[in-house]
Amino acid sequence: MKLLDGKICAASLVSEISKKVTGYVASGLRKPHMTVILVGEHAPSESYVKSKIKSCESAGFESDLLRFSENVMEAELLARIAEINADPATDGVIVQLPLPKHINQQHIINAIDPEKDIDGFHPTNFGRMTLGQKAFRPATAYGICKLLQFYEIPVKAKHCVVIGRSNIVGKPISIMLSNDFEIGNATVTLAHIETPRELLLDETRRADIIVVAVGIPGFITEDMVKEGAVVIDVGINRLENGKLVGDVDFENVSKKCSWITPVPGGVGRMTVAALMINTLMAYQNNFDLI
Ligand code: NAD
Repeated sequence: MKLLDGKICAASLVSEISKKVTGYVASGLRKPHMTVILVGEHAPSESYVKSKIKSCESAGFESDLLRFSENVMEAELLARIAEINADPATDGVIVQLPLPKHINQQHIINAIDPEKDIDGFHPTNFGRMTLGQKAFRPATAYGICKLLQFYEIPVKAKHCVVIGRSNIVGKPISIMLSNDFEIGNATVTLAHIETPRELLLDETRRADIIVVAVGIPGFITEDMVKEGAVVIDVGINRLENGKLVGDVDFENVSKKCSWITPVPGGVGRMTVAALMINTLMAYQNNFDLI
């Protein structure tokens, strides 16, 4: 078994980005700029936002964090997003999810200018990505593709099983792996909570690549995986003892895999790296650099 190390891959991608930014700045351009919106005091969100800001520093980007109280009204957030949309000094904006229940998440996502939607969640970007057009691709799914590419894992013509159909992970990665993309052209099965257990087992046991994003510790067990499979664990679950684990029984499944992502240090790192790639793309679009 070999590790698909998100730390190594992300560091390499961010270093490449940083070199490009150094060149752009030397030619007289301003630095790329990411704005992060954080609502309330959700501990995991605090930690995700912190790593995004830190990664901006490594990439040579500027960033700002706009904090709102848990009780902020939807209208206030929408007004702030409209200002950011109109501000030429910001290339990309993310709204850290989840939002408090009184705020309609989709209203907020839909309000972001698609040209600044570096999370790739806006329907315009999701639609473009689905159609195989140039788009900001949803960051976690894009990060997984970049990780597979970095480790030269063959995807074309392989049988992939994606478990979980969220709009931010399962659905986009199932589309991206099946599309005629550089990392794609696989035959993909998308399983979810209504997939009968027997069918799920049939599928995972013959899968070349499994991507699991269900949020259940130990969901993928050794008996569900064929010898030599590649396993991508998207799950991030905090156990009662404080330990962070994924959706895979790593200890036992890793013995059967050819490649597997660790948690932490796998897909999470790649999500942040993909956000940096998207931000650079937004910046390059702004300055007609590509
Ligand atoms: P979600 O939490 O919105 O939904 C869970 C999905 O799992 C649903 O689509 C559901 O149909 C499916 N599911 C649940 N039980 C199932 C079962 N028994 N069999 C088959 N499918 C089942 O999904 P999400 O937002 O993609 O989050 C999933 C996990 O990924 C969470 O642990 C989350 O923290 C993590 N996550 C990690 C990253 C990262 O960067 N690593 C990014 C986003 C989410």
